[in-house]
Amino acid sequence: MQLIQCPYCGPREEVEFHYGGEAHVKYPEDPSALSDEEWARYVFFRDNPRGLFAEQWVHSLGCRRWFNAIRDTVTYRFHHVYRVDETKPETT
Ligand SMILES: [Zn+2]
Repeated sequence: MQLIQCPYCGPREEVEFHYGGEAHVKYPEDPSALSDEEWARYVFFRDNPRGLFAEQWVHSLGCRRWFNAIRDTVTYRFHHVYRVDETKPETT
């Protein structure tokens, strides 16, 4: 069991959170102009890196607010958490 730092509540047990997929996926500026293939790529295709990855999480059993996190997909360790209105931190 690990603690996840909610940006609003502080550290809480991981069972209180749910994963929400890749962070920073921008909605298309003109969705009606997309082909079916482009639309499918937007909806279904996501990066799947080995290492640091920007993700969306929700504190579903706490404040129920969404936030972003930089998590290592190999170790599962959270390196940064930040509110959705904050910019993505540098991950060097
Ligand atoms: Zn919270």
